[in-house]
Amino acid sequence: MKAKKDIKIEIMAIGSELLTPHFQDTNSLYLTERLNDLGLEVSYKTIVGDEWDNLVLSIKQALSRADIVLAMGGLGPTKDDRTREAFASVLERKLIYNKKLLQKIEERFRRRGLRMPPVNKKQAYIFEDAKALDNKKGTAPGLLMDTGAKIIILLPGPPHELKPMFDTSVWPYLQKLRKKYTARRTLKITGLTESKIETLISDLYPQEPHIQLTILAYPGQIEIHLTAHSEESLEKSKETVHGLEKNFLNRLKENVFSSAGEELEEVVGRLLRLHKNTLAVAESCTGGFLGHRLTNIPGSSDYFLLSMVVYSNEAKIYHLGISEELIEQHGAVSSQVAAAMAVGIREKTHSSLGLAITGIAGPDGGTPEKPVGLVYTALAWDNGTDVVKNLFLGNREIIKYQSTQKSLDMVRRHLLKKPQSKEN
Ligand code: ATP
Repeated sequence: MKAKKDIKIEIMAIGSELLTPHFQDTNSLYLTERLNDLGLEVSYKTIVGDEWDNLVLSIKQALSRADIVLAMGGLGPTKDDRTREAFASVLERKLIYNKKLLQKIEERFRRRGLRMPPVNKKQAYIFEDAKALDNKKGTAPGLLMDTGAKIIILLPGPPHELKPMFDTSVWPYLQKLRKKYTARRTLKITGLTESKIETLISDLYPQEPHIQLTILAYPGQIEIHLTAHSEESLEKSKETVHGLEKNFLNRLKENVFSSAGEELEEVVGRLLRLHKNTLAVAESCTGGFLGHRLTNIPGSSDYFLLSMVVYSNEAKIYHLGISEELIEQHGAVSSQVAAAMAVGIREKTHSSLGLAITGIAGPDGGTPEKPVGLVYTALAWDNGTDVVKNLFLGNREIIKYQSTQKSLDMVRRHLLKKPQSKEN
């Protein structure tokens, strides 16, 4: 298909599960963002089930109104996976058996020590004049066909298969239709409320049409998404977005923990390594979630020593040496006990830093003095201890997440203030 002024694109999400309350079509959001990066807009989105007549009708409609049809899902080996067959029927194309494709599918099973079930042979069929797209993460090959008038692209449904296939095979192909260059940057912020951020940056909001700013607020994290487009070059859009980023960083300072896509636990890990510090954590209401987040980062054994889940009072007393009287006097959810937990875990493990969380995640167990969402986070280091009293809102899951977010941020801010270690 030749580049033209008004290219109409239709995305089709195929699969009966997408019409139930249990599954959402998220792939189309990813594809839309990537297409927008090229300056291409999506005109239509369709979600259709596996039922043959509906599928065929939707494909006919899509091909009648769009120049590019990007369909995903239904490329699997089972009977209800009929995307390939339905497109072949509408386009009046024969599906031809491709030996090389079959070998690739067989090889994938062999690598897992399995024999390919006969049903998978179906995935080795492709239209005579189409290009098969390699699937590095699954068995279903994709398909790309340019009829001269239309481009038809079929992609597998699972997001972890679709994204790399789109990026490596479809994205380079669509470059010839590119209308503009896009650069993005995301500032991730923690420790400030949305309204505080608003007061700090509202006069920086860009007015130019080629710049977009979106603020997304999650519990414990706010993100500022900056996007710049340029019709000239990628360098130009990058220059614009970096200029904006600089202005926002000047205002928001250390409250921004990353503008390079990192998670908070990644940033904390990087700082711990930089300062040659080790970390041990004592968790009560988060039940190991903090340790889980820290160990999500490859190489975390360089700095992360241990997470102890001291849920009961007895566990706090027995494992961390906290005095029974302290708990009796102040309660397990108190700044005194949080501090003692952080000091205790640090002493037990000889870590540079001890981090602790104790709180009430709810939904029960709250009192007027100690409501659900009250969480103390504490950090202990060689010559000090810091405790923060937090009042989080939300359900149990959100309170647990916010507790880990806050405690990770305490480590981050502590290390940012610290001069870098000079020893080896
Ligand atoms: P495979 O054989 O590798 O599973 P497929 O193309 O047949 O590929 P489907 O069976 O249609 O894929 O979908 C598999 C799973 O992928 C679905 O159960 C769903 O979890 C996910 N999925 C499918 N379509 C979408 C979509 N549009 N957005 C997000 N997830 C999707």
